[in-house]
Amino acid sequence: MNTAVYTNPAADARAIALTPGEVVLDEFVEARGPWSAVVSAGEVLTIVDLEGNQAVDCLLYAAGDTSVRYSAAVTIASQQSIVLTTGSVLRAETGAALMTVVADEVGVHDTIGGACSQESNTLRYGQHTREQHACVENFLIEGSRWGLGKRDLVSNINWFMNVPVDPDGALGIVDGLSAPGKRVALRAEVDTLVLVSNCPQINNPCNGFNPTPVRMIVTRPEAAL
Ligand SMILES: [Zn+2]
Repeated sequence: MNTAVYTNPAADARAIALTPGEVVLDEFVEARGPWSAVVSAGEVLTIVDLEGNQAVDCLLYAAGDTSVRYSAAVTIASQQSIVLTTGSVLRAETGAALMTVVADEVGVHDTIGGACSQESNTLRYGQHTREQHACVENFLIEGSRWGLGKRDLVSNINWFMNVPVDPDGALGIVDGLSAPGKRVALRAEVDTLVLVSNCPQINNPCNGFNPTPVRMIVTRPEAAL
């Protein structure tokens, strides 16, 4: 794979998007930073892991009513699998479909590992990590732009994060399966607010101990016009 085509900001978004169509958004999310956008029904969001092994923490809300939000439990129960990949329907507590994974170059994405926070960092890695920026802070900063607060943060998706479950039930956060330029694509089933934290974690391998930027490309497939 020619990774330069993905990491070059001038690389053609239309060519990189996993679902072709008119490009309606093309943005880079800086390392450790937050991001959000409303993806309209029928549009497809391609997330590009530019440099590889970058966890992209993600929450979804119905744009018209943010009390309708992603539910990891309902999503897992309805598909009878704990991993997200092509074909996974990302559902709200009501069972309503918010988005569907329509293409995936990694094969396994997590939705049980949760988001890092200053509190969990302190518990897991020690008091010296208390001042490190974390995903929950990103979610709160970016969510405030949409009227969302702490009560709106629920169990999230971790795109590109590898969280194997051992036979005894223990979770691991281990080196990722992703690689430079790997992509995952999500089709909005309703107008969906996508809230992202480009994970700042440096105390475990979820970002290869080196947080890096990702690219967000939204296309409107010809069929949806
Ligand atoms: Zn994080």
